[in-house]
Amino acid sequence: MNKLILVKYAPEIFLKGLNRNKFEKKLRDNIKYVLRGVSYEFIVDQNRWFIKGDDLEEIISRVKKVFGVSEVCIVSQVEREFDIIKEEALRVLKEINPATFKVETKRANKEFPMNSMEVSRSIGGYILSQCEDVKVDVKKPELFLQIEIRDKAYVYEKKIKAVGGLPYGMNGSTMLMLSGGIDSPVAAYMMARRGVGVQCVYYHSHPYTSERAKEKVKDLAKIVSSYTGGVRLYVVPFTDIQMNIIEKCREDELTIIMRRFMMRIACALGEKVGVQSVTTGESIGQVASQTMESLICSDDCSDRPVFRPLVTMDKIDIMDIAHEIGTYETSILPYEDCCTIFVPKHPKTKPRLNEIRQSESVLEIEKLVEEAIDGMEVFDL
Ligand code: ATP
Ligand code: MG
Repeated sequence: MNKLILVKYAPEIFLKGLNRNKFEKKLRDNIKYVLRGVSYEFIVDQNRWFIKGDDLEEIISRVKKVFGVSEVCIVSQVEREFDIIKEEALRVLKEINPATFKVETKRANKEFPMNSMEVSRSIGGYILSQCEDVKVDVKKPELFLQIEIRDKAYVYEKKIKAVGGLPYGMNGSTMLMLSGGIDSPVAAYMMARRGVGVQCVYYHSHPYTSERAKEKVKDLAKIVSSYTGGVRLYVVPFTDIQMNIIEKCREDELTIIMRRFMMRIACALGEKVGVQSVTTGESIGQVASQTMESLICSDDCSDRPVFRPLVTMDKIDIMDIAHEIGTYETSILPYEDCCTIFVPKHPKTKPRLNEIRQSESVLEIEKLVEEAIDGMEVFDL
């Protein structure tokens, strides 16, 4: 008997038709990438993926975080012979020692002389004859004993839920506005989970925001990169823009005009580096700049799709995900953000697009955007 890990991928990938091969290849490449440095062997048995290795726990902890993997199972591999399969099924059952069980068999290899029903029934009967206390329960068994018959035969020992989603890098790319807060790293994770390649932009208001605030954003990007296999972070100087707005525009419109600049820069940067969309960590109604009217004003400055994966979520649920993905502790470190420094006392919550366009027309918009991009720093994390 040989213990292996069975890697199951999201059912959505099966539905990709002619593209399925591409998704599978990408997923395999991504799995190989997270397993670098670990000794393992990748085995394919009739479309099923198995991983063999010395340290199964370590392999599981890495593979279950790969987007597109829906479940990882520990299985024992035995020869395709009924008596051997039967003994292995009994061993697994005794090890788990449930009160009730049900056997389910999948026979992918039609050369095997018994059909699935016969195998399940015979093994169920054998187990009952060997164990006194256990009972069969077909509706709600404590142990669902799964057997698969392929080139070899496999008996499932344990199933572990994996992250799901789609293989990273298969669904285009997005420029994620990454602040030091709780929300935007979660937004990055959610886009990445759907297979969208993520690059990040951070607007830095030196000297009003400190070097430590920038380091914090780099730390967050680094955590995001543990899911994506690397992230590029653009740090764009934002002070000149803010100073210009403060000097020349109405105080209650500062935030919304500032957000329009953030959007313009994210799009211009996307154009420059070949990124197709923009993502933010905004959630509807969360703060003054996240009303429907404010979102209309910022989307007005975008020439590409703007994604807000958190738009319908409550803060508490966003925080739960931040805990899960490991960004929360870093996000709550108390360094200032450029938005919090220049906050108007009474920000407009229902800005009118025409009025905002009019107000900001006194600014040299294109020049400010260009200068900001010219001054950016790039970090590969
Ligand atoms: P977060 O927790 O992500 O900071 P928030 O609730 O504090 O969000 P805002 O400060 O209004 O909300 O920011 C909304 C979104 O705008 C953020 O989620 C992020 O995508 C973007 N953003 C805000 N500040 C910056 C910044 N300095 N650099 C890059 N993006 C930013
Ligand atoms: Mg913020």
